[in-house]
Amino acid sequence: MKKFKVRKSGVHGRGVFCTEKISREETVMEYLGEKVSIKEGDRRAEVQMKKASKGKVGAVFLFELNTRYYLDGNIPGNPAKYINHSCDPNCRFENDRGHIYVISQKSLKPEDELTVDYGFDAEIYEDHPCRCGSENCVGYIVQRRQWRKLKSLIEKAKVKAKAEA
Ligand SMILES: [Zn+2]
Repeated sequence: MKKFKVRKSGVHGRGVFCTEKISREETVMEYLGEKVSIKEGDRRAEVQMKKASKGKVGAVFLFELNTRYYLDGNIPGNPAKYINHSCDPNCRFENDRGHIYVISQKSLKPEDELTVDYGFDAEIYEDHPCRCGSENCVGYIVQRRQWRKLKSLIEKAKVKAKAEA
């Protein structure tokens, strides 16, 4: 049974919101998409990035399923693609034999926005500023495991900017 809805979010564009109580460790929904080869996925990502750089809406919803395939979630009927990133997420993605599920990692009540860690790499932090509004927000959409690396990258950039000034 569906326990969420998609609507405008204060975080970013649209978001997914809880409509009924969700307990911890519940499977909230499946992240649906089209299975494509890594080569095809990279081609699609490039097309979307070009669109975005021209000021149009370009979005990449590619999940690496394994070394051979991506799941491209940019299809109609996949509300999970609207789940926003947070530095303090209440859900996570789990890959179960090629199916991606959204699992709650906290108990949720109606009106709570569902959030996940997008798992982006620290190396490309500047492309993805974060406005999640959580107390521990690091300012960029970067996976938690790389926060220490992110901080040192930001420090390095600051030192460089000072040297150039
Ligand atoms: Zn944040």
